[in-house]
Amino acid sequence: MTPPEKLMERCRDKALRLEPVSPAEGLELMLLSPEHIMPLMAAADRVRRRHKGNRISLCSIINARSGRCPEDCAFCSQSVHATSLIPEYGLVDSETIIASARNSLANKAHKFGLVTSGRGPQTREGEFDEILDRLREVGKNAPIHRCASLGVITEEQGRALKKAGLDEFHHNLETARSFYPSVCTTRDYDENVAAIRAAREAGLRVCSGGIFGMGETPEQRMELAEELRSLGVDSIPLNFLNPVGGTRLQNAPPLRPLEILKIIAVYRLYLPDKDIKVAGGREANLRDLQSFMFFAGANSTMVGNYLTTKGRDPAADLQMIRDLELEPCPSPTAVGPGAVATASVLAGGEAKHEI
Ligand code: SF4
Repeated sequence: MTPPEKLMERCRDKALRLEPVSPAEGLELMLLSPEHIMPLMAAADRVRRRHKGNRISLCSIINARSGRCPEDCAFCSQSVHATSLIPEYGLVDSETIIASARNSLANKAHKFGLVTSGRGPQTREGEFDEILDRLREVGKNAPIHRCASLGVITEEQGRALKKAGLDEFHHNLETARSFYPSVCTTRDYDENVAAIRAAREAGLRVCSGGIFGMGETPEQRMELAEELRSLGVDSIPLNFLNPVGGTRLQNAPPLRPLEILKIIAVYRLYLPDKDIKVAGGREANLRDLQSFMFFAGANSTMVGNYLTTKGRDPAADLQMIRDLELEPCPSPTAVGPGAVATASVLAGGEAKHEI
């Protein structure tokens, strides 16, 4: 084993140069004991500043179709296999979605995600076309980067989504391939990988990450990081399990805040120029240590409510970002085609060909 200080220095310098940290080094970092977490965060913070500047990418979501999902993901209250009491409803109308997108802008979010429960976008005849319509309506009425999380899609559907104005497709791998069967038994891991590849082939940016604290090992946390790196995803949401009553993981023990900060920092060093987004479970698990997530290397977080649970007041998040002398990424200034190219440049990154 390399002395921790040497290991962190070597991995930091590799990440600064965009030279890949090896899987073995990544695992050594993930196994570091608590007294090393502050210097590890300092290393990750330097890498964040190098590749992401002082901008923070904020995103907001709408639960556009809720519940009734035939899949059995162990953490999810929207599954028909869960006994959680959550609202169940079909695809919401354009007015509701436009109002939510505008509210996201008011909260300084520059990305807006339309999320539907279920195996895929279509649960009844014509629904996919309605989703395309909703995306077009958002594009006409709110100058915001459009994301969607619609379950498993084909490349053809990806192309239609892009044509309707979608910028970024979200689809989590949820966890490591070796741990997935204990999280979901109704879907094959390769179906999730195929959905990501289909979105990529369709020319969409891809947002994919997972949930930690479901019983996975440190090795499996690195296995997921390596799978995401090999798929070349653009944005990586890190969720920390906030157990919901009625799900199979309702009694899962919480992760320690320092362990969470370590996961964020290791993912920053392992995926140095990607958007590392702290998503679900932030408030419940980090509590007073939430602002440390940026010093641990995150350059993105969600504002507002989650799918079936409440988030904290966005004003508190914006104050936290101001207090850290960081800045929310500006939202696109115009509606319609080409707007998002501007946003990507303004977000401190280079314009990427796929946008
Ligand atoms: S995570 Fe998605 S696919 Fe899994 S049960 Fe929930 S809604 Fe269904």
